[in-house]
Amino acid sequence: MNSIQAALNRGSKFLKENSIISHQIDSELLLSKVLNKKREYLVLNNTQILSSDLIFQFEVLLNRRKRKEPIAYILNRKEFWKNNFYVDKNVLIPRPDTEILIEQVMKIYNKDQRLSVLDIGTGSGCIIISILKERQKFKGTAIDISEKAIKVAKFNAKIHQLNNRVNFYKSSVDNFFLGKYDLIISNPPYINSLKLKYLDKDILGYEPIQALEGGLNGLKVFHKIIKKSSKLLKKGGKLVLEIGFDQKLEMLRLLKNKFFLNKTIKDYNGKDRCLICTKL
Ligand code: GLN
Repeated sequence: MNSIQAALNRGSKFLKENSIISHQIDSELLLSKVLNKKREYLVLNNTQILSSDLIFQFEVLLNRRKRKEPIAYILNRKEFWKNNFYVDKNVLIPRPDTEILIEQVMKIYNKDQRLSVLDIGTGSGCIIISILKERQKFKGTAIDISEKAIKVAKFNAKIHQLNNRVNFYKSSVDNFFLGKYDLIISNPPYINSLKLKYLDKDILGYEPIQALEGGLNGLKVFHKIIKKSSKLLKKGGKLVLEIGFDQKLEMLRLLKNKFFLNKTIKDYNGKDRCLICTKL
């Protein structure tokens, strides 16, 4: 009874009993991780017998998932835009909504432009790395206040062979004074401290709070980013930001006299999610 198929069924049942909605796919992903194979392998080899050691490793992962640890942290992997990124508990798990920022940058700039880009609060590095992979002539700089996040981002840059086109610095936005940029991009922490407690258990219990919390009105970091960007951007340079669904009006107030708002883009739920601004 230790075939791949039997293990998958048991795993899925176990997760289902523990209220994990994605129990079936999670069971498959976790067993693939243990076997170090693609998911298709499980289907094609479903009668293969597993050693008790492998079953034990599978059970360890199932128990982590039972405690609501995000699957991306257990697998140390998350797909974003067109690539896979290494992730661990030191960085926010890249979100599909953030891909909107990449899509917009692709629309604004063509393949032949040479640009210098700054990513503020790079986390896993998913934004800057995705942009640089699409635009060969861009040069990147990325900062994060967390030393551990910078390590993860550097690792991802290495995996994607971009280490010579992007510089990483452990720095807060206020203390960063280096360079002049054509484009500044950021998905900063923007959740109101008082609303944090309503987030899902898998987020709250595992993702770095520092990457989520934007102070009492959620705008603390935006304030700093806008101030700093008006200094570090070249004239006519662009600022592309991810925002919370209810923050557009307050953002307009912060941008006033410094930036012109070109465009607001909605996310897949029809909520305001991304602002494109030009430095005045
Ligand atoms: N830039 C990273 C991302 O978009 C991290 C964002 C953050 O930590 N707030 O996933």
